[in-house]
Amino acid sequence: MKKQTSAIHTQFQRRDAYDAISMPVYHTAAYEFDNSAVMVDAFCGRSDSPDYSRVMNPTVTYFENKVKALTGAHEVIALSSGMAAISNTLMCVAAAGKNIVSSRHMFGNTYALIAGTLGRFGISAHLTDLTDEAAVEQAVDADTCCIYLETITNPQMEVADLKMLAAIAHRHGLPLIADTTMIPFTEFCAHDLGVDIEVVSSTKYISGGATSIGGLVIDYGSCRDFGRRMRNEMLLNLGAYMTPHVAYMQTIGLETLDARYRIQHTNACTLARKLRQLPGIGKVNYIGLEDNPFHDLALRQFGPSAGAMLTIELESREACFAFIDRLKLIRRATNLFDNKTLAIHPASTIFGNFSDSQRKSMDVLDTTIRLSIGLEDADDLFDDIRQALEGNKQ
Ligand SMILES: *Cc1c(COP(=O)(O)O)cnc(C)c1O
Repeated sequence: MKKQTSAIHTQFQRRDAYDAISMPVYHTAAYEFDNSAVMVDAFCGRSDSPDYSRVMNPTVTYFENKVKALTGAHEVIALSSGMAAISNTLMCVAAAGKNIVSSRHMFGNTYALIAGTLGRFGISAHLTDLTDEAAVEQAVDADTCCIYLETITNPQMEVADLKMLAAIAHRHGLPLIADTTMIPFTEFCAHDLGVDIEVVSSTKYISGGATSIGGLVIDYGSCRDFGRRMRNEMLLNLGAYMTPHVAYMQTIGLETLDARYRIQHTNACTLARKLRQLPGIGKVNYIGLEDNPFHDLALRQFGPSAGAMLTIELESREACFAFIDRLKLIRRATNLFDNKTLAIHPASTIFGNFSDSQRKSMDVLDTTIRLSIGLEDADDLFDDIRQALEGNKQ
């Protein structure tokens, strides 16, 4: 069976009492046991019976098992948000006195976590250029606990060489941790490229219709004891497990991920090509364009799929705001990979709480608009963008 087929037909862990065809939502905090001996087995991890929904719930386990079927991972843990997946993972691998080697090109809250919050617990950030092998080698020292990156950085759209980073990480006995939110795991196998642990915001491609916030940690079993500690230590002590209702919605989303992604990706390619012909757009940044500096590397790593996020450059912040305000079809919202196409000005919103100099060091420009391409007809999207740009000239 192909992965997609097995993901659709993932079996329930136990037969449902009413033979429901969809996994029921088990809205329960606790589970009852026949006797104290089986209770001990459940609490001590000797059986797969759930004991408490902070660490295991049948509806969430079902969602995790679908992701396992799609990725072939050793362990998959669903959390309450992408940020929970990232923070729990980093708190699992780091400790006071350790450092994380990463980049300034990162999702805003991940940057604030690594360069800010974790610092208060004695974990430092060694931020460097992850596309520069010598710079990465220099940033790693005896106290480094991991190398952390995003597959396509947002909004800079930078792609680092995963095999090169994996070689450095593994030479030093470190895990390579990648946030793969930008290209779904149905499209490429991160572990084949040397990634030990994947973190994903399932809020994005997986939830589909922007139904819910969620995160995934996908562990390929190459980092000793990580998966077990995530469940037995991080979930228990930090308490950020996914809730059953969210798992139910995201399970439905996951089943159509592959189909939706194909359309969104095709739309993004079509638009990127057409938009670069429009006067008024300084630059279209999309790794699927042949002359993009990361095109060849992205093709080698992720295959022909280049995601459904692109950015365009206009002449000024004012032009960006005016453009966004004139959009009629495309929605003014954050989030990525919703069924609906979304537009946002990252510098003043997602990165709005950073100082000008911080934004400059992160290469977050005042002239950039981020577009997340949805499932609409590409001609309608193009017409909306064209009319919004034309207003800028008047
Ligand atoms: C959205 C996003 C996150 C955070 O995920 P949430 O589900 O919003 O907590 C992390 N990384 C990337 C690349 C994202 O796009």
